[in-house]
Amino acid sequence: MTWYRALPFLALGVMAVQASIYPVPALGESVHRYLARVDPALGELHVKACFAPDTPDALVAFDERAAQYLDHAVAHHQSARHALRARGTEISLHGLSDVACVEYQVSLDRAVSTSRRGPAIRVGRDLLLSPDIWLWRPFRRGAPEAIEIRFDLPAGVNVSVPWPVVDTSGPQAIYRVGGRPTDWPARMAFGRFEITEIPVGEARLRLAVLDGQPPADREAMRRWVEAGGKAVATLYGRFPIPSVQVLVMPIGRGREPVPWAEVMRGGGDAVHLYVDQTRPLEEFVADWTLAHELSHLLHPRIDSRDAWIYEGLASYYQNVLRARAGLLPPTTAWSELHAGFQRGLNATPPDRTLAQVTETMASDGLFMRVYWSGAAIALLADTELRRRSRGRLSLDVALARLQACCLPSNRWWTGPELMHELDRLSGTNVFTTLYRHHVHSARFPDLREAYRQLGIDARSGEVKLRDDAPLAPIRRAIMQGPDGPRQAGPPGPGGSADPVDSAPRAVSPSRG
Ligand SMILES: [Zn+2]
Repeated sequence: MTWYRALPFLALGVMAVQASIYPVPALGESVHRYLARVDPALGELHVKACFAPDTPDALVAFDERAAQYLDHAVAHHQSARHALRARGTEISLHGLSDVACVEYQVSLDRAVSTSRRGPAIRVGRDLLLSPDIWLWRPFRRGAPEAIEIRFDLPAGVNVSVPWPVVDTSGPQAIYRVGGRPTDWPARMAFGRFEITEIPVGEARLRLAVLDGQPPADREAMRRWVEAGGKAVATLYGRFPIPSVQVLVMPIGRGREPVPWAEVMRGGGDAVHLYVDQTRPLEEFVADWTLAHELSHLLHPRIDSRDAWIYEGLASYYQNVLRARAGLLPPTTAWSELHAGFQRGLNATPPDRTLAQVTETMASDGLFMRVYWSGAAIALLADTELRRRSRGRLSLDVALARLQACCLPSNRWWTGPELMHELDRLSGTNVFTTLYRHHVHSARFPDLREAYRQLGIDARSGEVKLRDDAPLAPIRRAIMQGPDGPRQAGPPGPGGSADPVDSAPRAVSPSRG
């Protein structure tokens, strides 16, 4: 996420980690079937929820505002209709043991707000909303149960959701809700857009470009997202997760091509991009935001008390991946990293540790200290792994093994847990050593020795690369990736052939 750029738009909440309150239903349990019908104006939603094998104890919503938008709810009970009432976020079905189905109506119109953090917003004529404002989930003995959802959509209307598709054989796709913790946020969209499936190797990026004034160039957005997906796949020869929801929201003129973007994990993995659609494709391709957000898919969801780990990984790879994809010359990528490290250094208060600054960055705005400390530590880890193993190991290899063992992940990870796992997967102690050294340090990570060894000379203010430095081959390997120098450039009119599609490389995990 790019928190620091959100400040002009958002009243930031506390970035506290909440452990999932409820256990997650396992596959193979009873599945309840929901049919959701939206009206052509996208203002009302009618939901029919049918239960199998029997009636749950209650229906529960995961947004406290859901009851405000709920209009009628009735249970079909012993061939009679029984009116239901929400109490807070719960509709009790207690005493209605043989209810086969419940029907309810939700006013989406009443949920629409103008705040980007609101429960629903209009994007042009389309609607972007949190599923938690209308999805009343079946609970039994205090735990949520899995649901399969179909949508009945008016002609020309489509839906984008983060949930995995389990069946496409019928006229409408069936989505399964239930793998992820119920308190992880998500967004979905209804509108007159197309869902474009972008293949990146075996993975699928499910792109929806919402309406805008003026409308966005959908083909340009597709090429931009495809180039970003392929750049991430250069890391270890495949895209890190099998399927991702990608939503592009054209919000009109902004100070940059992508004024705001974020990754959400509720229901499935998703990247949401709020764009200035009046800009040409070249500006999107040159921008770092998409590479940053897609790089977050390389790691599981991590406790925000260690946000420097995941923001550091994404800030490091936003430059490395663009260099490897041929979108940045290596010298520029090093200059961008160096400029980031300088911003981090300048934002480092003398008396507070990295852990302390990470915890308060949303209120005191010291994002640069957090993001670029993490990126510096990623560079130190990458360099050390490559140096110790003579190039056999790298941060790429450690993350490839993490992907093979643990992604997609349906749970929170703590920072130390991730560091231990990366150590185990690389057979080293590089990650936990760096973690312990830096998390309680009040200093920005010292890169002077790494710069000297790698041949990065920034003393004149301008970055110069020296090939006579002892670790210059490692420096070159970082920006070239395992396949060496690449010829690929920005996406051309017909798209570009990419070795990722034709020859996916498998990196087998070794457990040592
Ligand atoms: Zn981020």
